[in-house]
Amino acid sequence: MEKDEGYSSGDDEPGFRSSMILNSSNLSFGEDPNAYKKDKACNVCSNSFAVMGSSKKHYCKFCFRGVHASCSKHKAPDRTGKNVRICDRCYQKAIQDQVKDNLQKELDKVNAELEEIKKSMNTEKDQRKHESYRRDGLERKLEEMKAENLRKEKEFNDQSERLKKELKTMEEDIEELTRILASADLEKKQRDEKIASLKQEINYLQTDTQTDIDKITDLKRLIGEQENENENLIKELNSHTDIPGEVENPLSRANLLDSLKQKVSNAKDSQKDLKKENENLKKRLASLREENTSKKAEINKFEEGGMQRKRSMSKMSADIKELETQIEFQEQEIARLQEKLNNSRTLK
Ligand SMILES: [Zn+2]
Ligand SMILES: [Zn+2]
Repeated sequence: MEKDEGYSSGDDEPGFRSSMILNSSNLSFGEDPNAYKKDKACNVCSNSFAVMGSSKKHYCKFCFRGVHASCSKHKAPDRTGKNVRICDRCYQKAIQDQVKDNLQKELDKVNAELEEIKKSMNTEKDQRKHESYRRDGLERKLEEMKAENLRKEKEFNDQSERLKKELKTMEEDIEELTRILASADLEKKQRDEKIASLKQEINYLQTDTQTDIDKITDLKRLIGEQENENENLIKELNSHTDIPGEVENPLSRANLLDSLKQKVSNAKDSQKDLKKENENLKKRLASLREENTSKKAEINKFEEGGMQRKRSMSKMSADIKELETQIEFQEQEIARLQEKLNNSRTLK
């Protein structure tokens, strides 16, 4: 509205466009508010106001220079916020500044975002690094555990192998002992059979001896009877010899005497034979008794051997029992180790 020395503000002219997009911060002001008074030409197009003739003279409320209306078609907010004339030169500069400002702001924003991204990337990187360290540590630990497990497994396998070998040796020992026992049984059976046969033989011998004793008794009885008969005959002979008067026929008496003498001689021979036979029988009896004694001694010896065999067999049985107990224990030990091994595998 201000009019001074032919200059018009022209703020109220129609078609005058106000620019709402311009910020007051992008608008600058000239140093001399009266600068337009000396201007003879338009500060935008440089054409003289005199040449334009009828063209109204205006001035820019920002650079305070004289301009044509056609060279200042925009409005912009002044210090008080009121929309006032701005020359095209100031307008373009303000627009450029604003665009530059906006670009700068955008750039700052982008930079800030970039910074933020960088920061978060660094954080992520750190985290990844940390994760990596942690993973490395865990992997190392895992490797160590694996190695430890392998070592344990090997140890268990070795121990198991050793126990199996021991078990095998024990089984072989038992087999050997069983074989010995079987052969001992056989030997015992053979001995028992031999003893039984010897006992039977002794029985036979005893029966024979009894028969011999009976025979001897009979012979003794016969000898006794013969001796009695001899005595009677001698008595009879003596009675005949002592009383000669009773014998009427000397010849018959002599014959009788001869016959008696012959009888006595025969009886004596017979007695001698019997005695001889008796001696033989006694000798045989003695030899039988001797044989019997030696057989009994032999039987005793066998029986003693049998007792020893029995004792060693019972000791072997005890040994086998002990080995069986050991085997059972070892089997339990193996089962326990196997379980331990399985557990360790499951853990892995
Ligand atoms: Zn102009
Ligand atoms: Zn201007």
